[in-house]
Amino acid sequence: MEMAAIAIGESEWEVAVPDKPLKDKLYFENLKSVVIDTNLCSRCLTCAAICPGGITVVENKVDFPDYEDKCLDCGACVRVCPRFVYEPKSGLGSYIDFIAGRSKRFAGQDGAMVTELIVSAIEMGMIDRGLFAGRDEKWATEMFHVREPEQLAITTLGGTKYTFADVLPELKKAVMFTKRGVGVVGTPCIVSGIRKLQQEFPLFRERVKLVVGLFCTENFHYGDISKFLQEKGVDFDKLIKTDITKGKFIATMTDGEVKFKVKEVEEIVASGCNVCTDFTALKSDASVGSVGSAAGFSTMIVREENAKEIIGYIKEKGYADFDEATPEELDYLINLKKGREKNIKK
Ligand SMILES: Cc1cc2nc3c(=O)[nH]c(=O)nc-3n(C[C@H](O)[C@H](O)[C@H](O)COP(=O)(O)OP(=O)(O)OC[C@H]3O[C@@H](n4cnc5c(N)ncnc54)[C@H](O)[C@@H]3O)c2cc1C
Repeated sequence: MEMAAIAIGESEWEVAVPDKPLKDKLYFENLKSVVIDTNLCSRCLTCAAICPGGITVVENKVDFPDYEDKCLDCGACVRVCPRFVYEPKSGLGSYIDFIAGRSKRFAGQDGAMVTELIVSAIEMGMIDRGLFAGRDEKWATEMFHVREPEQLAITTLGGTKYTFADVLPELKKAVMFTKRGVGVVGTPCIVSGIRKLQQEFPLFRERVKLVVGLFCTENFHYGDISKFLQEKGVDFDKLIKTDITKGKFIATMTDGEVKFKVKEVEEIVASGCNVCTDFTALKSDASVGSVGSAAGFSTMIVREENAKEIIGYIKEKGYADFDEATPEELDYLINLKKGREKNIKK
């Protein structure tokens, strides 16, 4: 292990960087060789969030244009990448409570409990901002900092977008602005990236106070999924909701719906999802999904004390209806993703 100095904002830390498998190459070239070129990369963008040089996305791939000139060889990218030393995990994980909920205040994809958790955490003073993946009129994701419940009047903030969101680069900005702490929502790969950042950098450890994970089977690059949906007859100007449920992709528009078997989009599933085994966002404080509870409810796996506290607050205020949830209903998707371990080249 070597030591290197990493700067975030005005702070600087000495961090240990791992040995290079390709000893005479830059750290970015090591990341490229081990993670990007092997299709292990989940596009979580943890590397881009921390890179002082210029890691970004080019044509659906994580890349670093002109890295020969610009890479500082600090090793931050390999240090925070959840897949540089990949230890795939699967299952339901440990939890304090497994329940279903439906917010009485907000509308969302299912029971809007993700929105309820974040807003309640703001009201409790646990955090002063929550990061939401909203969208533009063509359903490309856009990141928003929610600081007041009233901002949820922007109805596009809740709901599922089946395309990547740049959560981690935005999280880096959020930890610099926050006074009390940040709440963040993401798919399992994003949650893994957040935990890596917290492991490596005190700023993230101290200031990210709530991590809500989403159940996730797969995700898509924006260009691929938008082209596919348009070819299927989806008009983005009229699109109000997208959902994958019981093997079907359903695009609901103001004047009807387009429905097809999810198998049809198999070919455009992002390559990093084909090696992802984590359905339930095992490392979150609370994981939320659709499967496991009645229609209109969100299934919640409450894993950590901070999330339990928020649920207690929601119950006390009467902000949501609660119901039983069934862990066994997650088995099929948990096992489906566990099976992807075979796609990881040793
Ligand atoms: C790509 C993807 C695949 C999913 N696959 C499954 C599945 O197979 N089975 C299942 O049961 N559930 C799945 N989910 C979760 C499910 O669709 C709902 O997000 C979840 O039930 C929460 O619903 P809610 O009403 O409580 O959330 P809401 O209150 O509506 O809030 C939704 C939250 O999700 C965030 N969000 C939306 N899209 C993204 C995105 N692309 N990246 C990061 N954050 C985002 C928003 O910022 C918002 O905070 C998936 C979600 C995503 C994003």
